[in-house]
Amino acid sequence: MESADIKVYEFEYFKNHAHIVHGIFTRAGGTSTGTFDSLNIGMNSGDEHPAIANNRKLIIRKMGMKPLIFLNQMHGDVIKVLKKDDNDLSESFQPGKEIYTADGIVTDMKDVFLVIQVADCQAVMLYDPQKKVIANIHSGWQGSVKNIIGKCVDKMILEFGCQTEDIIAGISPSLGPCCSEFVNYKDEIPQSLWKYKIKDKDYFDFWKMSSDQLIYKGVKKGHIENMKICTKCNTDIFYSFRGEKKTGRFACVISIV
Ligand SMILES: [Zn+2]
Repeated sequence: MESADIKVYEFEYFKNHAHIVHGIFTRAGGTSTGTFDSLNIGMNSGDEHPAIANNRKLIIRKMGMKPLIFLNQMHGDVIKVLKKDDNDLSESFQPGKEIYTADGIVTDMKDVFLVIQVADCQAVMLYDPQKKVIANIHSGWQGSVKNIIGKCVDKMILEFGCQTEDIIAGISPSLGPCCSEFVNYKDEIPQSLWKYKIKDKDYFDFWKMSSDQLIYKGVKKGHIENMKICTKCNTDIFYSFRGEKKTGRFACVISIV
């Protein structure tokens, strides 16, 4: 079960903060086989559940035996807020199961890993080092259209009193403008977002859109790190739905420690 092949990418802006631990896992080092090779954590991907459960254990072990909180991701704009002072928390809190239907999660709790599972969609991590609040967001094109990123920043302000100029942000490997073709964009993407279309092509720059959604809320441009790794161009390292169709989900995790 132990694997030496597990690789974890980190945001430069995040890794020197003493109060958080985070990581972007690749597809390497797990136990799934075939098209799911190998560190697939997506329960609805079509992969065998024992392999997925084992992969999730490998991630827990790698991150220091802390519980993982998964979301039942729906490409919506619902954001779950978990507060350490919430008295009801102990009853509802079931780490390791997708009990919350949401595409974003915000918390000030220590020692729990917020997990976003992706294969082309962006995982966008936010951290306010002043208030010690973290967020993890699943934003595919539908999340981009719904501006779940901006709504998550709003939650940090409203629920925890965060100041946007304190927030740092990281955008995970995801579908790049090189591969974001939307032939039906006139039906799928509102006209207000057509400014992100690549000139003379049906491709969109969702990376720029995410940065702009953060900047519009007051996050400083210099506080936003985009790894700028396209998943479809790198299916040897990451899962890509567009690149592979039947594929797994890689894990993007963050915790306050
Ligand atoms: Zn690409």
